[in-house]
Amino acid sequence: MKTYQVDKNGFYGNFGGAYIPEILHQCVQNLKNAYLKVMETEEFKQEFAQLLRDYVGRPSPLYLAKRLSDKYGCKIYLKREDLNHTGAHKINNAIGQVLLARRMGKKRIIAETGAGQHGVATATVCALMDMECIVYMGKTDVERQHINVEKMKMLGATVRPVTSGNMTLKDATNEAIRDWCCHPDDTYYLIGSTVGPHPYPDMVARLQSVISEEIRKQLLEHEMRDYPDYLIACVGGGSNAAGTIYHYIDDERVKIVLAEAGGKGIHSGMSAATIQLGRLGIIHGSKTLLIQDEDGQIIEPYSISAGLDYPGIGPMHANLAAQHRATVLAINDDEAISAAYELTRLEGIIPALESAHALGALSKIKFKPSDIVVLTVSGRGDKDIETYLDNQPYND
Ligand SMILES: *Cc1c(COP(=O)(O)O)cnc(C)c1O
Repeated sequence: MKTYQVDKNGFYGNFGGAYIPEILHQCVQNLKNAYLKVMETEEFKQEFAQLLRDYVGRPSPLYLAKRLSDKYGCKIYLKREDLNHTGAHKINNAIGQVLLARRMGKKRIIAETGAGQHGVATATVCALMDMECIVYMGKTDVERQHINVEKMKMLGATVRPVTSGNMTLKDATNEAIRDWCCHPDDTYYLIGSTVGPHPYPDMVARLQSVISEEIRKQLLEHEMRDYPDYLIACVGGGSNAAGTIYHYIDDERVKIVLAEAGGKGIHSGMSAATIQLGRLGIIHGSKTLLIQDEDGQIIEPYSISAGLDYPGIGPMHANLAAQHRATVLAINDDEAISAAYELTRLEGIIPALESAHALGALSKIKFKPSDIVVLTVSGRGDKDIETYLDNQPYND
């Protein structure tokens, strides 16, 4: 049977694999040998499930948004990842990987972060599980994301500002990889999205797949059928989308819509619409689509949403787009902002700016009244209030 899941060599079609320096070969090999073995033990499953329930607050509700549904002429359910502890889906992955790291005998967790959301989730779980935590962050981002930096420090993590390159996410990633090369034995590198060398994209997708597992059960309760007509999610690296679609990926009854960040417009030179603008290249150990110039140099991406301005895209999603399994829409800054205000006024839910891109896709799809739509609200908007205030679409 045709599948869109990863193959045994770590590829999704032409995308993925593990393009890594020789010195990391053993680390990645060890992880590859360990992750499925550990994740399939009863003991891991139980501890993971218990923490997701009692610490994160899962299952997250599947909420029928009536006023939003009326507006778009279909039945829209929101998968409320914004209600998780720490305010987004990233905690699911961080818990799973720290549990794995412990079982691999690691003492030290390293991570890189751009907007700081993944850094906060990682620092949170490291506090909970008493693990040393070092977070690499571009100096520019340290300055832009002051509150998240203070949160990480309060949680006991060490934040290392990176001053190479543009001093943003990809420079922080390079530093984290350098650290891993120097401490291969005691250090676990915790990647926050479905990116990086195999097995990371598959591992992160599996850890986030609790989202679609819950959607199945919850839809069955609400609708007497366990699949929707549409699944909609935003994509930065792709982890909340991967979790949303995981159990439906090979079920062609379910249409998949991915919303990437158009920024100021895909032809404006200020965009993060990686799937539409990207060409095949290698980033962060993975062969995927990436925004690059003629010489293969990465072009700095732009989006109003810090969580979506990544120059690459997870290999799973690159393949879904290439195979036309998913429809990819670029949602511009202003469209995301309007969609966020709309959800706030219609349903009393202030979404994260990233999630607002998924909401922005609603007006671009022609729904039938009988369509059942599940849209993942990946996070809450508390961190984005200033941006919302600076960009108000209403004049009241
Ligand atoms: C980090 C983040 C994203 C983007 O990451 P994915 O791996 O694509 O999910 C989306 N929404 C929120 C709230 C985030 O914090």
